[in-house]
Amino acid sequence: MLELRNVSKTYRSIPAVEDVSFLLKEGEVLGYLGPNGSGKSTTVKMVIGMIRPTKGEVLFDGREIHHDLAQYRSQLGYVPEEAQVYTHLSGLEYLQLIGRLRGMREGPLEDKARTLLQLLSLEAAQYSPMSGYSKGMKQRVLIAAALLHDPRLLVFDEPLSGLDAVTSRLFKDLLVVLAEEGKAILYISHVMEVVERVCDRVIVLAKGKVVADAAPRELTQLMELPTLESVFAQLVKQTDTMTVARDVVDTMKVLHD
Ligand code: ADP
Ligand code: MG
Repeated sequence: MLELRNVSKTYRSIPAVEDVSFLLKEGEVLGYLGPNGSGKSTTVKMVIGMIRPTKGEVLFDGREIHHDLAQYRSQLGYVPEEAQVYTHLSGLEYLQLIGRLRGMREGPLEDKARTLLQLLSLEAAQYSPMSGYSKGMKQRVLIAAALLHDPRLLVFDEPLSGLDAVTSRLFKDLLVVLAEEGKAILYISHVMEVVERVCDRVIVLAKGKVVADAAPRELTQLMELPTLESVFAQLVKQTDTMTVARDVVDTMKVLHD
């Protein structure tokens, strides 16, 4: 369904993403992991057609997405990393706006928007301006907005940031059910939780390059490490956070003259 072929993106001669290739099929959940600054969001921006790759191409059903971006976007649901929403609108008004922009009919749109808001525990807040919503509430509106037009491809950039425990559990189950429904899901995260449970395949990115592409279980076996978390730390050569924590405290304790 979605294919990236040797995709690279360079910002003013600094590479952010280098030579990424993968195929995401229907019914598949692909985890796209890496530490902060490794190029995840840059990849996402190319996948949703917001920016063009410096090299390589993004294909949907075998066609380059920029040939007919509007048609492609009608098949795409995207939840951005930052909950940037029109805060003067209520949750319901926001979903109605998004639905109208996607050409949905008023009646079915309103029914669907209300039901999604209710399922995502936003019924009581549906008429209040989103300026008063918590980060998690805004995130849930964005998830509803991404699902509204029943897209075939879903892209979630760090979807769990700001979600409470109950909503994250619901979200994980939602991923499983969406995959069962045949949706293709690209799941971006910098943390391991969830990924082991819901992803069929995991791509690990470090400094813009793919350092691993395998099933979660294969990764742990391959590296002879007990958990995916330790594989991740090994692959991206994360700094020893305990050492950093001690250094921070040591620095804090330095007395001023
Ligand atoms: P991630 O989402 O994995 O945290 P990003 O894709 O946001 O990483 O960033 C990858 C690298 O590209 C970082 O070094 C970041 O500073 C750089 N970068 C991202 N966006 C821009 C931009 N618009 N201009 C210049 N550099 C950018
Ligand atoms: Mg990011």
